[in-house]
Amino acid sequence: MELVNLTRRTEIGSNSYWLKIGGKNLILDAGLHPKLEGLAATPDFSLVPAGKVDAIFVTHAHQDHVGGLPVLTRREPQARVFMTEPTARIADVMLHNSVNVMVRQREDDGITEYPLFTHRGVDFCAQAWAPRPVGKRYNLLGEPSQDDSEITFEFHDAGHILGSAGLLIRYKGRTIFYTGDVNFENQTIMRGASFPESGVDVLIMETTRGDSPVPPGFSRADEEDRLARGIRRAFERGGSVTIPVFALGKTQELLAMLWKMRIRGLLAHVPIYIGGLSTKITGIYDAFAASSIRSHPERRLLPEMAPDVRSGHESNTISPRKKCIFALSSGMMTEHTLSNIFCRKVLGDENQSLFFVGYSDPDSPAGRIRRAETGQQVRLDQETSPLTLRCHIEEFQFSAHASRETLRNYALLLKPSKVVLVHGDKPAIDWFQLALFKELRGTEVIIPEPGRPVNLG
Ligand SMILES: [Zn+2]
Ligand SMILES: [Zn+2]
Repeated sequence: MELVNLTRRTEIGSNSYWLKIGGKNLILDAGLHPKLEGLAATPDFSLVPAGKVDAIFVTHAHQDHVGGLPVLTRREPQARVFMTEPTARIADVMLHNSVNVMVRQREDDGITEYPLFTHRGVDFCAQAWAPRPVGKRYNLLGEPSQDDSEITFEFHDAGHILGSAGLLIRYKGRTIFYTGDVNFENQTIMRGASFPESGVDVLIMETTRGDSPVPPGFSRADEEDRLARGIRRAFERGGSVTIPVFALGKTQELLAMLWKMRIRGLLAHVPIYIGGLSTKITGIYDAFAASSIRSHPERRLLPEMAPDVRSGHESNTISPRKKCIFALSSGMMTEHTLSNIFCRKVLGDENQSLFFVGYSDPDSPAGRIRRAETGQQVRLDQETSPLTLRCHIEEFQFSAHASRETLRNYALLLKPSKVVLVHGDKPAIDWFQLALFKELRGTEVIIPEPGRPVNLG
């Protein structure tokens, strides 16, 4: 049994791992790097022999896990692609959106390798998708199987975003569990992961939050109250609140939080604006409300919150009036996105508020704003001049990823013979390596170097 890390660097990037087991080639995730451009953003699929992959597994529909799938299926059209049904629905929307973004980047930024795939390429790719539910065991043909002499897989709810799943692979008495992105605690909509609690030999684990501890006394409920107070104070100052959010996951969690605030009497009925992609994805959350494991399954976010929908080219038609909430993507305020363009109207106005509710890469426009002091100049994109930061800024913590403490405890519970650390920047991986070395003496901790095969026994 062997694992090859197909990402190009040890970091949170274009997740993809090649697992060789029982004479079969399996690929776990096929992401695209959110910060890199062109072919450099894809995993190094050239390491995998073309036409020889038996199955591809997609843990969830975030770009860094599914964004490179059409590129991989072009090389491996024979491979069945397994994922949950909600992931398939969301991935279809995300990948078609990605084509539009790449076509625009080709025109605007001259990236001639773009688009890496076309709308037709996404449709071709989707023909190989075989959605399977969580909690049931299948062989690589996608047939139900309890036969331990053949490779079987089973998805387990990961609590990260709608459709997210960890992947349990069994073969001849050996078990490998890949967490994908996970959250063990309840968010506002998503319920915490329901992962196997024993019988795992090899654990392949995400490490996103390894570089930061949970602040003492932190609770999500308190954080939701703090957000409600923040919004009320912003309205009292006579302005609106702009919240850059990812279209997938954070937008829906935020809408659910706003709904909860409303029914608890903490927030009045105020206009809420979201983007077109966010709306499509929220519609999928609503479609699976009753059939997915989540809190408030009776609630439908779109009819309940009735957000006003604006697409990117309509960004000039909205302005930060009084007492509105603008929950706009992208979360990191990437150039040319709705949140980036809209923020030009917000940044220099001391009556306006800008709230951050998730992670921002330090090099992203959102990261630059978060680092800046009031009165400093901030550059939002390459084309326009910097703006002076005058608006009110607050930061909140609503991560969709497990805290490092809960992930460490999960590894301690399983006591696997090997732990493979993935999906983390260097300081995050270093923390886990040390923590597990100290507390799991019998376990080999592996950091898979890109392109180097690792023996899993
Ligand atoms: Zn994710
Ligand atoms: Zn991820």
